[in-house]
Amino acid sequence: MDFSYSPRSEELRMQVRDFMDQYVLPYNAQWHAEVARGTYPLELINNLKDLARWDGLWNLFLPNLPDDAPGTGLSNLDYAPIAELMGRMHWASEVFNCSAPDTGNMELLNLFATPDQREQWLDPLFRGEIRSCFAMSEPDVASADATNIQTSIRRDGDDYVINGRKWFITGPTHPNCRLAIVLGVSDADAEPHRRHSMVLVPMDAPGLELVRNIPIMHYHSPEGHCELVFRNVRVPADSLLGEPGHGFAMAQARLGPGRIHHCMRSIGQCEVALELMRERAGERRTFGKYLSERANVADWIAESRLEIDQARLLVLHAAWLIDQHGAKAARTAVSAIKVVVARLQTRVVDRAMQVFGAMGLTPDTPLSYLWTWGRAMRFLDGPDEVHLGIVARDELRKARDMRGATAPWFTFPDTLRTAEQSAREDD
Ligand SMILES: Cc1cc2nc3c(=O)[nH]c(=O)nc-3n(C[C@H](O)[C@H](O)[C@H](O)COP(=O)(O)OP(=O)(O)OC[C@H]3O[C@@H](n4cnc5c(N)ncnc54)[C@H](O)[C@@H]3O)c2cc1C
Repeated sequence: MDFSYSPRSEELRMQVRDFMDQYVLPYNAQWHAEVARGTYPLELINNLKDLARWDGLWNLFLPNLPDDAPGTGLSNLDYAPIAELMGRMHWASEVFNCSAPDTGNMELLNLFATPDQREQWLDPLFRGEIRSCFAMSEPDVASADATNIQTSIRRDGDDYVINGRKWFITGPTHPNCRLAIVLGVSDADAEPHRRHSMVLVPMDAPGLELVRNIPIMHYHSPEGHCELVFRNVRVPADSLLGEPGHGFAMAQARLGPGRIHHCMRSIGQCEVALELMRERAGERRTFGKYLSERANVADWIAESRLEIDQARLLVLHAAWLIDQHGAKAARTAVSAIKVVVARLQTRVVDRAMQVFGAMGLTPDTPLSYLWTWGRAMRFLDGPDEVHLGIVARDELRKARDMRGATAPWFTFPDTLRTAEQSAREDD
């Protein structure tokens, strides 16, 4: 097994690293100061986007990028280490047109959009001219189970009419957010996994109201995690994305690579937390010793290194599985990384905050934001428990398929052997 990054990935990774150092990092303080003053979006993002695109550092995430679209067409495995670099600063991905939820939405449109839908929505997304959101979760139902979603998408003549309430929808407060991909019930009588469809809804459609931007642990994200209401929102019938009744399956397809991206960005953020922790531990003294000389702090640093490296390998393996065998075959591996990395982020960042003392809780370091995001990761794209359930189901399926085959590893007293085990051993 070769653990090195491919030459193409490494070359682009170095370019992105230099770009981040030269053009993005110097504006970090300005980004935070302007957003704190209520400015959003920032003009500097457009300038940086122009530069990144000019340098060919654009749409790096989509393996099956169409030939006529700007971008690199990297595999998931090749893109993963680049996502890690971009993730180090939470606003950086947009500069390279690689930010969620646009990436997942472009992926979905690339798979399922008609030529007209591509022209209207996908091409401007590829060019970074517009942004988009994905509207699935609802306040009135447990949205961890997408079959619960109850927003209605009703056919009325040449239109679809949408009614429902969504929340935690990322992206709508960005003024360039022009498209909502909405999941809803189009056939209430179908079996639960065939009830839902997706429709493409312009954000300025009459009846679509942005109710509020919901703070996450008191953090107000400028791009928004929003509550949206759809009241008799009418869109032409050709706004349906993909086949009617395929909404659930399409939502699943959207999430495989998207979770790789989220996880790698998180790993980048864990690296930042570790770097800050070790630097602070090396310069802060209490009771005559540097914090780095305290065994518990040294352990936190070492454990963080071990855990980050373990998680990275696991994510790269999941990316490789998607590339080699498709999102369906990688499903359990993707669920596993989703749990491992979300937990990793709060654990590593929590240690770093502890080393920083009270300062770790303030906006003077990125740590409290990174912890908040790690906590949110344990829900977004599915809560931990759902992903653990998928891993457990896979393990238990193996047990079922192998029932009795493990018997030779045990020395059961004869009285405890089942008839099936005895028969197997007699064979
Ligand atoms: C920052 C952020 C951004 C988000 N962005 C978006 C977005 O852009 N678009 C969008 O549609 N949604 C978005 N979400 C919503 C997110 O996808 C949902 O919160 C998530 O799917 C869980 O749904 P829920 O909150 O309704 O929890 P529920 O479904 O009510 O689940 C509550 C709890 O029940 C437990 N649980 C659920 N299922 C199981 C199970 N099978 N086994 C054991 N326990 C279980 C878990 O502990 C879970 O936390 C975002 C959320 C956050 C926090």
